[in-house]
Amino acid sequence: MVDPAERVGQLPPFLGGAIRARIRDARERGVDVISLGIGDPDQPTPDHIVEALCRAARDPAHHVYPNDLRGAPAYRHALAAWYGRRFGVELDPDTEVISLIGSKEGNHHLALALLNPGDVALVPDPAYPVYESACVIAGAEVVRVPLHPDDDFLVDFETIDTDVADRAKVLWISYPNNPTAAVAPVAFFERAVAFARRHRLVVVHDNPYSEITFDGVYAPSILEVDGARDVAIEFTSFSKTYNMAGWRLGAAVGNPAVLSAVMQVKETADTCIFTALQAAAVAALEGPQDGIARTVEAYRRRRDLVVTGLRSALDLDVPTPQGTFYVWVPTPPGITGDEFAARLLDRAGVVVSPGIAYGQQGANSIRISLALDDARIAEAIERIAGARPSLLEPPAAG
Ligand SMILES: *Cc1c(COP(=O)(O)O)cnc(C)c1O
Repeated sequence: MVDPAERVGQLPPFLGGAIRARIRDARERGVDVISLGIGDPDQPTPDHIVEALCRAARDPAHHVYPNDLRGAPAYRHALAAWYGRRFGVELDPDTEVISLIGSKEGNHHLALALLNPGDVALVPDPAYPVYESACVIAGAEVVRVPLHPDDDFLVDFETIDTDVADRAKVLWISYPNNPTAAVAPVAFFERAVAFARRHRLVVVHDNPYSEITFDGVYAPSILEVDGARDVAIEFTSFSKTYNMAGWRLGAAVGNPAVLSAVMQVKETADTCIFTALQAAAVAALEGPQDGIARTVEAYRRRRDLVVTGLRSALDLDVPTPQGTFYVWVPTPPGITGDEFAARLLDRAGVVVSPGIAYGQQGANSIRISLALDDARIAEAIERIAGARPSLLEPPAAG
């Protein structure tokens, strides 16, 4: 008999799996499903990056175990240089940069590296579910910190109980934010760093959407704040910036002691990413960057389609996203996010994520992903407008 460890049963359900199952079921019933559920960039990786991988893959020097488990020096130097150009942040490539199999892996190894069983971790609500899962695997106690639309979904550090804050070892934050699409100004990161100093904890800034902002909004690195590297690390990723989600490529930067602890755990689990991938990453960072602007422009067009479409089709009070490729939509009065998502699938053939998947604060929201071509998004909005009466009707009593 297989008897999985208790932590397996404690994991929150994996959202992507549930959405994929819903899509499959509806398709089997013959529905032409439009999926706005999953956050996976739909546009291709730029050609010059693919070519760099192909060239590097042919080099036998890359076929052996990677020499440097922190990442090839060329990769770490290119990433440090990018941080300098992009954020004005100077990083020591030897001590302040490590490569990752994406930010997702980094979050898990970070939790294992910093949290003892029973330690407290602060995780916003709503949030990307991986932070909580990583804490559960590490046996840590998760305290959720509610985010409110009135605060632009920024963590309000004043409202965190002082005793809880003193006990906490790690605080997770992420802006531009999945799922709320909020972007935080530098002043917010200054408050986060001050909070971490006051309560002697580590701030983890998950920052995979730094390049996906609209209307000239600036998304900072937490490391722009003076003294941030004493208390903070940041995850960056190629998945969203360069449409490379399937490549599994990211990095952690910042506090050297935290990164060393992560490396000690990580070295027991993986032996660094394929060196040829790292060569492609260098090509991504140092090659033409115009693909980013095209990607962002596509998301902006689709954002406007969805925001204006939903406002007029359902009279919903949809805030305009400043970044990411999500729209965080409050549901019509009296209808939960779960119920609304089910109606959208049954009555319009449109799949969205119920907000509860990101935490209790998301109970009356849904998340719409913009990672689908404009025509399909326009069709989804048309179908939603056509189904208006049945989407808005009050829930059946009982
Ligand atoms: C997409 C996403 C990631 C995934 O990063 P990978 O580098 O692909 O593992 C991390 N954090 C958030 C909030 C995301 O939405």
